[in-house]
Amino acid sequence: MAPGIRPGFRIVVLGGGTAGWMAACLMAKRWLPMGAEITVVESPEIGIIGVGEGSTPQLRAFFEDLGIAERDWMPACNATYKNGISFHGWSRVPGYQSYFHPFPSPIDAHTAPAFHFNSFCRRRGADLPATSDRFFLSAKLAERRLAPLPARNFPFDIAYGYHFDAYLVGAFLRRHAEGRGVRHVEGRVATITLDDAGAVGALVLDDGRRIDADFFVDSTGFRSVVLQERLSVPFRSFKDNLFNDSAVVMPTPPDPTGLGSATRAIAMNAGWRWEIPLTNRSGNGYVYASDFISADEAEREHRAALGLLDADTPARHLKMKVGRVERHWEKNCLAVGLSQGFIEPLEATALHLVQATVEGFIDVFEKTGFEEAGRRAFNERINARFEGVRDYIVCHYQASLRDDTEYWRANAANQTRSASLEAMLAAWRCGGDIREEVRRQDIAKYYTDMSWVCLLGGYGNYPRSLRPPAPEERRFDMAVIDDFVERCALNFPDHRAALSAGERAD
Ligand SMILES: Cc1cc2nc3c(=O)[nH]c(=O)nc-3n(C[C@H](O)[C@H](O)[C@H](O)COP(=O)(O)OP(=O)(O)OC[C@H]3O[C@@H](n4cnc5c(N)ncnc54)[C@H](O)[C@@H]3O)c2cc1C
Repeated sequence: MAPGIRPGFRIVVLGGGTAGWMAACLMAKRWLPMGAEITVVESPEIGIIGVGEGSTPQLRAFFEDLGIAERDWMPACNATYKNGISFHGWSRVPGYQSYFHPFPSPIDAHTAPAFHFNSFCRRRGADLPATSDRFFLSAKLAERRLAPLPARNFPFDIAYGYHFDAYLVGAFLRRHAEGRGVRHVEGRVATITLDDAGAVGALVLDDGRRIDADFFVDSTGFRSVVLQERLSVPFRSFKDNLFNDSAVVMPTPPDPTGLGSATRAIAMNAGWRWEIPLTNRSGNGYVYASDFISADEAEREHRAALGLLDADTPARHLKMKVGRVERHWEKNCLAVGLSQGFIEPLEATALHLVQATVEGFIDVFEKTGFEEAGRRAFNERINARFEGVRDYIVCHYQASLRDDTEYWRANAANQTRSASLEAMLAAWRCGGDIREEVRRQDIAKYYTDMSWVCLLGGYGNYPRSLRPPAPEERRFDMAVIDDFVERCALNFPDHRAALSAGERAD
């Protein structure tokens, strides 16, 4: 029996948003067979945040781990495939109006050396193609609106994420968890009692019901009623280097010309907006900094961009608390989801962080139970992960090369960055080896060298005046690479057709 788990061990997950149900599902799979009891408590009256429509590839492993097939969950959640993110309008440098950020796949081994080499030479002034779009199969799949599901005779797996309706994913996971024996209680927690050691003792609902447990998961969203409010764990804001703190969201009908298979992230006057294709609608959200634009102006700018100026499509306004808690696991409480922190949604990493937190916790709790050393190491790992993701997102704003509004100028002028990001930018600027820098810092577990080069090069951070490449710099023939990517893409189906035909990965 694992040190922290014994028959009758009671776990209460407070919060029935995506984070709470993800935690309940993962813990149920592992610990219900060991005799633990898991209860999810949520207040329908408070409700869930209900946004969050994109994922990273790790979500595939989440569903696989739970034994849930794509054919079961995807149609139930209006889900689509995501080959990556295409960034538009983040740079004013000619030729760099957009670029594609793929998820790393094994097949990239055929073209990534050329991408890295060309990018490296371009930083030294050689006029060579170096934008990710021409080098990576995922970019071609996104451009052609293809699903990342290779034909049977194509022997490579392609990394992909998903787009989905957050409400439907939560409801699906709830059914799954309840089917496995997780209990569900509806009610609003009014009081949280502490024991003599300052650990959480019980939740008391506003109708007087009392729920005791041995361990509590705080998934109460930005409220963080257990970890931050009751246990007083401090919150570290990332506001100094990530300015966006608000969003305005509105759906539009699906694109009649075809079903996209990538998220679009489009720069705006005081932030950026996403376009996410679902099977039944497009999700759209403008993420902005309220220090630079009012909610009304942001809504107007967003409506204009979507062509909804006169339409009565309702807009939803949201506030975001960007940063992380100092300790995600404190005494007998683990915060999961928005209650532990949030980095703005540019890279759609929130559910990935939920998954990493819960999986990491299960692993360490089974090994070391409540021992302080295990808890401390876990908290340090999760903090490092939050900061690794944050640095990559901050880099978008530092590297973007837009200076046409006060917002973009303030981002460019902002000197608040971590030592890790500082070193990465210095390596880029002085023509250093980015692969070596990522290795040296051991940060590939957050973003690979390919991602860093896509980003830094994608905005055109190259010398302005270029010279013809020297013969030794023409090592890679672009015609060969174009042909390779083109032929590979022939093995993939149209996105809408693949989803309609039920051609899913499993
Ligand atoms: C603008 C925006 C865009 C985003 N985009 C993405 C994205 O593309 N990809 C991604 O992965 N993530 C994204 N996110 C994050 C994503 O929305 C969340 O990580 C995810 O929905 C999980 O939220 P949650 O479960 O932590 O909180 P919530 O959904 O807010 O759930 C909180 C739960 O706690 C309950 N609760 C709170 N207080 C009490 C109480 N006192 N008593 C009982 N119950 C209580 C509520 O009823 C609710 O069930 C985005 C977030 C924002 C703001």
